[in-house]
Amino acid sequence: MRLCFATNNKHKIKEVAFAINNKITILSLSDIGCFEELPETRDTLEGNSLQKAEYVYTNFNIPCFADDTGLEVYALNNAPGVYSARYAGDHKNSDDNINLLLQNLKGVSDRRAQFRTIFTLIGLDKIYTFEGIVKGTITTERKGTGGFGYDPVFIPQGHTKSFGEMSLEEKNQLSHRAIAVSKLVSFLTSK
Ligand code: IMP
Repeated sequence: MRLCFATNNKHKIKEVAFAINNKITILSLSDIGCFEELPETRDTLEGNSLQKAEYVYTNFNIPCFADDTGLEVYALNNAPGVYSARYAGDHKNSDDNINLLLQNLKGVSDRRAQFRTIFTLIGLDKIYTFEGIVKGTITTERKGTGGFGYDPVFIPQGHTKSFGEMSLEEKNQLSHRAIAVSKLVSFLTSK
């Protein structure tokens, strides 16, 4: 089976290809000749991941899956959520996003948050979705410089280190994306 993963993020492709153990060929967007920016205009993670997967399936006629992830902070009514990448503006700067988040949580004692990832798979018999959630808390200042995005300010439940202080291997064992990927891979390999 050949499946497109609607991303050009090499790290994500590698993560999925590794989990799938080469049983299925995973193609990136550039592998299938898709060089345009995918539409991502819905206001939920589910909507955006479906929109991206549908776009590729419709225009390139290949079974496909797409992901979308957001950081949901309880005290902020689940913001930034689907807008996580551009929380502080369309320039999508992680440093600015973190500064805004810490500012909006200044003096707030409820620091609970979760990362949530949705994968949508389209092109088999029907549309499937797979969810991965990791719960945790937002720190009051940056801890660590590893990872990307909000990693330096997120401590997963049951741990003392932030994602930014963990090695890639440590983070990959418990991350929201890893959980969603493992559900997707179990499904695909049971087909
Ligand atoms: P995407 O849907 O994977 O592109 O994620 C959207 C945004 O969520 C990213 O730009 C990051 O700001 C944030 N994000 C997603 N996954 C992670 C993660 O594992 N750690 C930290 N931030 C993340």
